Amino acid sequence: MASKKRARKYIFVVGGVISGVGKGVTVSSIGKILQSRGLKVTAIKIDPYVNVDAGTMNPTEHGETFVLADGYETDQDMGNYERFLDVTLTRDNYMTTGRIYQSVIEKERNLEYKGRCVQVVPHIPLEIISRIKGAAEKADADVTVIEIGGTVGEYENILFLEAARMMHIENHDDILFVIVTYLPVPSKVGEMKTKPTQHAVRALNTAGIQPDFIIARSELPLDKKRKEKIAVFCNMRADDVISAPDVESIYDVPVNFEKDRLGDSILKKLNLRPKTTDLVDWRAFVDRTKKTKGDVNIAVVGKYFDTGDFVISDSYISVIEAIKYSAYAVGKKPKLTWLSAVDFEKDPKKLQQLKKYDGIIVPGGFGSRGVEGLISTIRYAREHQIPYLGLCYGMQLMVIEYARNVLGLKGANTAEIDAHAPHVVIDIMPDQKALLAKKDYGGSMRLGSYTAHLKPGSIVAGAYGAATASERHRHRYEVNPEYIEQIEKGGLVFSGKSADGRLMEFAELPKKAHPFFAGTQAHPEFQAHPLNPHPLFTAFMKVAAKAKGK
Ligand code: GLN
Repeated sequence: MASKKRARKYIFVVGGVISGVGKGVTVSSIGKILQSRGLKVTAIKIDPYVNVDAGTMNPTEHGETFVLADGYETDQDMGNYERFLDVTLTRDNYMTTGRIYQSVIEKERNLEYKGRCVQVVPHIPLEIISRIKGAAEKADADVTVIEIGGTVGEYENILFLEAARMMHIENHDDILFVIVTYLPVPSKVGEMKTKPTQHAVRALNTAGIQPDFIIARSELPLDKKRKEKIAVFCNMRADDVISAPDVESIYDVPVNFEKDRLGDSILKKLNLRPKTTDLVDWRAFVDRTKKTKGDVNIAVVGKYFDTGDFVISDSYISVIEAIKYSAYAVGKKPKLTWLSAVDFEKDPKKLQQLKKYDGIIVPGGFGSRGVEGLISTIRYAREHQIPYLGLCYGMQLMVIEYARNVLGLKGANTAEIDAHAPHVVIDIMPDQKALLAKKDYGGSMRLGSYTAHLKPGSIVAGAYGAATASERHRHRYEVNPEYIEQIEKGGLVFSGKSADGRLMEFAELPKKAHPFFAGTQAHPEFQAHPLNPHPLFTAFMKVAAKAKGK
């Protein structure tokens, strides 16, 4: 049905002072509270780097690459938007400097600028604006919330701010600006400082933009005095300075914003009629996260945890969130431990630690680092009857482990690590071979949603409660067709296959052999939402929860 002509509204969210204080969660939460008031909401992420997409970046440095249903490789914030808003976003909702320049250059080469001189200003901001409006149009959104990556005052995002400013000149009534800043409480001083926020707002003013709201992130809530001080120095009303202290969980944020009536204030400024909020389901979920008693202990064993002296879980954020939703769904409090596979290689005795977990997950990954540690982990889970879920690489390594230790195929491996291994049980997909030979790495894997046909009566068919499952993918390698028969004869069941029957999408051991030992070539974690936990994770969690107290 064609939509009635109505003014689309846009909210730009920018960052000040420091990065990493929750712009993505602010965008998701503003989106959620507007959605809860009956508006159609979509969200856009703008990343200022030159990479055309997020697929070529190292997860230990940039965090997880989030894959959209249409196969676009994006930033982890897109995952937050999808999870909070319970929507499926598209490639139109994501852009980088690289992508913008690439398309302006393509248009120039195609003579689409009709002989004009193509300039950084205005052509780059105009391209940005046309993409923002296009995404809003396509989603038929009442409100589009746009996150501009980075912080104000740096070179990288200036053209995106310029695009936002130009949109605002064109239409004052339909556009709002939100700046997320940080107020430090230096331990020696013991007092919350507003000066960095004042500077950040001044930097934003220099770009021709005055914020409508300040989201004041800090360890502690903002007192009245500081709100008033910021209001005076930043030229705004104290009520529009929103206190955003640290919270236990990101899912508390929409509820906290509503406590400050942020929804009402936004609607008023956008000339939209305030509707009563309906965060009922969301509040019920948040309640569950606080009241659930009784732990389920899950170990995620991966290879992208350590960066210098820090351990980060950002590389597996979707997996971690998926575990949480399914734990709550089966009435347990998730206790997560991340273990580095490299440690198990250095000291195999450490594998004994795995005994204490109710379930083990090996998530996706690339390359050889830590792989032998992961294979030993999977062996331990299989031999000790610990529920196991393998995701992408986690399924490929499960096949390798089975081939080596059950079928006796010594030296079985993946071509990704050793193309000349005696048994290449995981091989490169034929169409991928040509791409790699051309060094065509960007956006060239098997990406996005594909449907698998599930074997009736299998664990996975039971989990999905369906004959097919559509999941997102991101891989170049597959189970080598030449070994399928031998592996199945040896007891590992390929319980889901691609529509043409060629690619092995799910593998499992029958229930009589192991309580839950299953893997998928896909990344189901990308479709797990708080209000819609993922059935495969939930099936795994049910068994893990029962394993408790064994
Ligand atoms: N490295 C493997 C492949 O490319 C697995 C990829 C993944 O885990 N996402 O096939």
